Amino acid sequence: MTRRVNDQFAGQSIESARRALAAQLRSAQVDEAELDARILLGAALGLDLTGLIAQTARLLTEAEASRLAQHAQRRIAGEPVARILGTREFWGLPFRLSEATLVPRPDTETVVELALEILRQRELSQPPRIADIGTGSGAILLALLHDIPGAFGVGTDLSLNALETARDNAAALGLADRSAFVACSYLAALGGPFDLVVSNPPYIPSAEIRTLSVEVREHDPHLALDGGNDGYDAYRALIPQAAERLAPGGALIVEAGQGQARNIETLMTAAALVVDRPPKADLAGIPRAVSARKRPP
Ligand code: GLN
Repeated sequence: MTRRVNDQFAGQSIESARRALAAQLRSAQVDEAELDARILLGAALGLDLTGLIAQTARLLTEAEASRLAQHAQRRIAGEPVARILGTREFWGLPFRLSEATLVPRPDTETVVELALEILRQRELSQPPRIADIGTGSGAILLALLHDIPGAFGVGTDLSLNALETARDNAAALGLADRSAFVACSYLAALGGPFDLVVSNPPYIPSAEIRTLSVEVREHDPHLALDGGNDGYDAYRALIPQAAERLAPGGALIVEAGQGQARNIETLMTAAALVVDRPPKADLAGIPRAVSARKRPP
């Protein structure tokens, strides 16, 4: 007799369900099978990792077994864990996701780090005014507002759905009164001046999107990935707009795709910005956060 798929974890202990799920994910070539199994099990049971360890011998309820089976199916079909959970940690903070937002990547924390370094070196008489272009879940902007007391920031996005998610995240993080979210193309609806403009724009060349992993190509919104023929469309549009709206001495910081930093610096220089420091590398050593400054008066 074949068991229904949803019964596969029925009657199992937490420990045996964890092993069975990890084995399933491994045979489906999931990269981080062990870790994903633990996280999905925890989510299905409403337990954190310590909770799972404390109760290894407990048997799964029917509802838990069926939730876990659904999580397993989705992961095996290529859906990332963050999408299954609907949330992802970035800069140590929880971010809710929607289909209109990218899953925030650890690489993007490089942009936050560089922004904080640059702001620390400037002596502003007031808390900085920040704009985040293509804000998605709000991750970059809200991480900065969280770390900079009194700062105010605006996030823009073309997607109303993403803006709604970003607003929810701002509220959940207690940052609603220091942030605003606006629907527009790049900085079109913003006046400025800003002390800091940040962005993780779409930068994958259109033809390369189909070569990305299933987790990215089928689950991240293409609006947030597709940088046009050569990958630079968004930089070409946003750099001159940011240059116009920066306060004198203000900084623009953008995330770069692998191998793109040099060309982005050229676009910044062409917009009369001054590239006065090397790009900051991510943990893999890839130049990831590229910055330039508007000349002081
Ligand atoms: N970093 C993402 C990736 O590698 C791309 C995000 C983007 O285009 N800004 O899939």
